[in-house]
Amino acid sequence: MLNVDPEQTDVYYRYKMPPLACKVEGRGNGIKTVILNIKEVADSLQRPAEILIKSMGTDLGVAMKLENDRWSLTGDHVKADPLKLQNRLYDFIRRGVLCRYKGCRNPETTYLIEKNKLLMRCKACSAKTEATVNDKVYASIYRLENEALQAEIAANKDRRSKDERQEEKWAESTRMSSSYAQQDLEEPEESAVRRESPVSILRSVVESGVAETVIVDKVFDLKQEFGMQEKDMTKLVFRTYFMAESAPNACMLIRSCAPVLRRFTNRNQMSILMEEAEHYAHSNQAIMFSKYPIFLFELMERGVVNENAVLTWHESVRHRGLQKELCVELRGICEPFMSLIRRFC
Ligand SMILES: [Zn+2]
Repeated sequence: MLNVDPEQTDVYYRYKMPPLACKVEGRGNGIKTVILNIKEVADSLQRPAEILIKSMGTDLGVAMKLENDRWSLTGDHVKADPLKLQNRLYDFIRRGVLCRYKGCRNPETTYLIEKNKLLMRCKACSAKTEATVNDKVYASIYRLENEALQAEIAANKDRRSKDERQEEKWAESTRMSSSYAQQDLEEPEESAVRRESPVSILRSVVESGVAETVIVDKVFDLKQEFGMQEKDMTKLVFRTYFMAESAPNACMLIRSCAPVLRRFTNRNQMSILMEEAEHYAHSNQAIMFSKYPIFLFELMERGVVNENAVLTWHESVRHRGLQKELCVELRGICEPFMSLIRRFC
């Protein structure tokens, strides 16, 4: 193996590469030098093989060709001087691989293009220095970097539309379900192994009796893990605390979970919480309808939602996935409470 840096004579130098293995093929005008191990050499330098070939070929002023996965240069570049190509490669390494900041010479550098200049960013000293490769090599690097960038943008776009699909499924799960208890926030991606839902994960955390800060941290972890948005966190927290079996104690329950609910219900999410609460009430109609005014009062009293959010909810009969008659009935039950709010708040 050779040292990547030609000026480096230390045998223990850690950056090594195999010497170029060349083979001359053909005859007459068709004579060419095939570089058999360009891929291995390129990998040791962490550069695309195409760039190395471009650099050697343009320096020598000969044509380059890629055939059946083999790179070759026109002409015999071995006979007259067996080290000719190797020395061309070292030229490229000096100009386009080794960090050029003072005496650094670290070969672990990556390209970036700024103001039409090709720069190398050093992983060791983090300096940005200019690579002095020729125009054709620059053009190739520019194209390859651009392609990599485009691929990255496309991948991000993919991820974004996946987020949107997930969001739709969230919305769907709120609309479609008739039984609130079964309306777990499930991992919407189809997968062979079904992951535990965020609600059941968070519920076991809550049930273990940990401090509120631990619960809050866990919600943020789940947001990350399941790719949730802000409003999903509001739903998640509400659903974690309010299950079918909690209905008899729903008003009391608000007192204990209000700090966490408040943390994930800012002004923009209050309408989301009101919608969640209504779904919960419909699913536990027998218990919840008659005491819904008290439930709303507790939510306001504990600062989870404000009067505006409650009044707005009462004025708009939205019944996504809910029975319209029940929506009207619930608002009727709450009417006396609403007029109190209008009078005193
Ligand atoms: Zn450096």
